[in-house]
Amino acid sequence: MSKTTCSSPDTRAPLSATDLPLVIHHGELHAHWVEAARSKGFDLIARVRDRLHVALRCQTCGGVHVARHSVVMTAQPLCPHCIEARWRATALAAGLTWLGRDAHRHYGHYRLRCGHTARRQFTFVERVASGVVSARCETCLVHREEEEALRFGWMRLGRDPQGNPNYRLYRHSCGHEQRIARANLQWGQCDCAGCGQSWTAKPSYIYLLDIRHSGTGRHYLKLGYSSHPVKRHKHQLGLPKDADVEVLRVVAMPTGHNACTIEKAAHAELRRLYPEAVVPNPEYADMMNVVSEIYRPQALAILQKTLERIAAEVATGACIRTLNDLSDQGQIAGANNPETPHPDPESRAPAEAVTRNPDAMLEDRAAAWRDRLPILDRHWGLTG
Ligand SMILES: [Zn+2]
Ligand SMILES: [Zn+2]
Ligand SMILES: [Zn+2]
Repeated sequence: MSKTTCSSPDTRAPLSATDLPLVIHHGELHAHWVEAARSKGFDLIARVRDRLHVALRCQTCGGVHVARHSVVMTAQPLCPHCIEARWRATALAAGLTWLGRDAHRHYGHYRLRCGHTARRQFTFVERVASGVVSARCETCLVHREEEEALRFGWMRLGRDPQGNPNYRLYRHSCGHEQRIARANLQWGQCDCAGCGQSWTAKPSYIYLLDIRHSGTGRHYLKLGYSSHPVKRHKHQLGLPKDADVEVLRVVAMPTGHNACTIEKAAHAELRRLYPEAVVPNPEYADMMNVVSEIYRPQALAILQKTLERIAAEVATGACIRTLNDLSDQGQIAGANNPETPHPDPESRAPAEAVTRNPDAMLEDRAAAWRDRLPILDRHWGLTG
């Protein structure tokens, strides 16, 4: 097996031993070594380093590497340049860029489609190339999780200290650190054990931002949601200092859960109906730390209409409100935004209000809301 490799030059002119950064060993070049090397696809060009090693030039690629003469005599020397060329080709077939080998002999370094680099096992890349698995990017995944957490006032700190792959460690805006299942935080479904703030009860906002960067002449729109839309600005989006951000529209939602669900449904619909309005991530990845939800300025009318529809749904009470909202939080959500008529489902059915208990009313609205957004079916059981 080879111990040292010397990269071959781009030109295919055969290398001689003196071209190489190798110490020539002045022993006899035995004819039977030369013959054995030739029969195995290599030219033995010199004895190098010490009495045990020889330099071999690959007859296939012209690359030179050093091997023990015992390997030449008793085994099949392997050309590391040919092997690397195969790894490079496999990477290409897998949609990756080969960057080089790792210290571990089963691993290489690759650039992923998103631009991040990753260490991957060769057999894994082979499976990616044959379409069995996909090469997901951990860096992008972490960014996505950070973004998801920030929406609900949590900061993703890292992996679960207890090692559960479904959990992460997060810090709440109050400073309290807590393990939370990623799936739950993805939907904002977690109560802080430090300050007792309940995710179901917190009002939230869907916003539309106009983002311009004069330095690079870029202009985008962002539709998103947050419990503090103003805080979503430059700081959280990671925008450059010279970027201009304008809040075009804010719609108050009774709860973070509503905002999250409705926003996700809106993005899915926009992607389906207006794919040309969606800006691909690489175009703005250097400018913002969000991974999606960025639209072309030409889509302004479409986005305004989407927000119009959401505001109307909130106004007509189509948006389900939790027991907490019914008791105290609902007023706050509506009052914070003069644009949005105050959602007051109780005013619609005063007779029912006196004859039915709040739980039953809540159930009715939940059922009505589920019919509108089937995605809630999956998550309703988690709302407690
Ligand atoms: Zn070769
Ligand atoms: Zn990535
Ligand atoms: Zn807290």
